[in-house]
Amino acid sequence: MTASITAPRDQEPAGSADAKARYPLVGGDGRERSVIRVGDVLIGAGAPILAAGPCAVESLEQTRAAARMARAAGASLLRGGAFKPRTSPYAFQGLAEEGLKILAEAGAAASLPFVTEVMDTADVDTVAAYADMLQVGARNMHNFALLKALGSAGKPVLLKRGVAATVDEWLLAAEYVAHAGNPDIVLCERGIRTFETATRFTLDISAVPVVRGLSHLPVLVDPSHAAGRRELVLPLARASLAAGADGLLVEIHPDPSSAQCDGRQALTGDQLEELAAAMAEAGAPAPSRAVRS
Ligand code: PEP
Ligand code: MN
Repeated sequence: MTASITAPRDQEPAGSADAKARYPLVGGDGRERSVIRVGDVLIGAGAPILAAGPCAVESLEQTRAAARMARAAGASLLRGGAFKPRTSPYAFQGLAEEGLKILAEAGAAASLPFVTEVMDTADVDTVAAYADMLQVGARNMHNFALLKALGSAGKPVLLKRGVAATVDEWLLAAEYVAHAGNPDIVLCERGIRTFETATRFTLDISAVPVVRGLSHLPVLVDPSHAAGRRELVLPLARASLAAGADGLLVEIHPDPSSAQCDGRQALTGDQLEELAAAMAEAGAPAPSRAVRS
């Protein structure tokens, strides 16, 4: 009797040989790679891209300043949260739709498309009306209703890895979005929870080549949330590029000491420039752009 490679093995990660069977839409042997377009930016096209912006949108002034910093450093995408998943219900929850309007204005002023998180199925249409890319945060990677709703959002999805998700679960979450009708997915490793407390999370560098061997989707790395401290962001970014990441997602702030959220890990303008220089050294002189020069 021949064992079926599609037999359910919910606890087991797939090997690259049967990735296509377990993840029919997002799986592959890594040879044919997808290129995902966000606005006029191409992710996975070769040169790693840089996405930068504040953890949370706090004001128009703060977001415009962050967008200018991002643009000056050569980033091709602006990031920023309008709907914030906070551990405490008493922490700043984000400016919601007002934050989306600010992102749209700041992004347009700096000529940068933007990615922002959507936390709730009820907000998908609103967020999609403003954003160029919809982020699923680590805390929502297992929110299957949200993953399904993103199938018809009409915008590319940035799918962060859950803090306790295996690579297999992460790829199956991507499969949910693709199965629901949206093949435009970019994965993002952002650190997982381990016994280690010296960093906020443990950046799983090995996930980058592992995922690239199991899936054709591009994979970004967010060293900011993994590190939790700005001085660790650059070395983790270098490691991510060396491991084959298709780009980086980093948090910046014009005045980190006044940040409402994650100020400790926010890069200053100078540090962002240093990171961009490290990307150039690693062979990524210019972000991929489809149209704009
Ligand atoms: C974020 O990128 O703003 C964020 C909340 O990240 P994560 O979901 O990875 O914690
Ligand atoms: Mn953050």
